[in-house]
Amino acid sequence: MRESRIWRLVLGVQDTVIERVVFDEDADAVIVSVRPVARARHRCGLCRTRCARYDGGVGRRRWRSTDWGEVAVYLEAPAPRVSCREHAVVVAVPWARHGAGHTRSFDDTVTWMATQMSQSATRELMPIAWRTVGVIVARVWADTGMQRDRLAGLRRIGIDEVAYKKGHKYLTVVVDHDTGRLVWAAEGRDKATLHKFFDELGEERTSELTHISADGASWIAAVLVARCPEAVRCADPFHVVAWANQALDTVRRAAWNRLRNRAAS
Ligand SMILES: [Zn+2]
Repeated sequence: MRESRIWRLVLGVQDTVIERVVFDEDADAVIVSVRPVARARHRCGLCRTRCARYDGGVGRRRWRSTDWGEVAVYLEAPAPRVSCREHAVVVAVPWARHGAGHTRSFDDTVTWMATQMSQSATRELMPIAWRTVGVIVARVWADTGMQRDRLAGLRRIGIDEVAYKKGHKYLTVVVDHDTGRLVWAAEGRDKATLHKFFDELGEERTSELTHISADGASWIAAVLVARCPEAVRCADPFHVVAWANQALDTVRRAAWNRLRNRAAS
């Protein structure tokens, strides 16, 4: 294995030439000088389309990569900007997303961590501010959305609401039961919010849905009747068990009251 390939693997970069790896005493960090391979130059940092060069951007700059053990690592290179027809003026380097101060692999690592642990734990492990976790997740989410159609091939979905800000705000979320993935989320929990999901999905893909699970909320049921009456509606087990427990409590209370009255009379 060639040395440059090892560096690329360790740094998690593609289409990148490693020019030099040095330890910068002042920054107390490893600095890796890089440049894009020829075929990756002048590609839009968002859609990867080849574009005309716009300008040299801010000149030479650094992107933080994931640490090597206890040592901070930065990629360093010029950050030229290109003019993309769709995305206007954007930074065009293969190792980082447009607008990012971190490398793609750093962003991807933080995003994965955010799905596995709390935002605070992510911030403790990675050298970033608490707010940056959210910024990075949003950037990766937008990027993923551009590369793949999350709503393609949906057959069996679940619709639910999630509370946040101590129950003051809600998100409506849609999951794909076949892959276990979250495919859509939006602020709010009302008919208008859920209609937005079906607008995005479109009529043809909606007609391909076979099963939809949801809790018993009437606002969800009303939209399902209007938008996709053909799909089988299922109650998810969590709510079925909760309803059964509530019913059991009612019966238990009634029995208790009956017995108490009988004992008193
Ligand atoms: Zn573009």
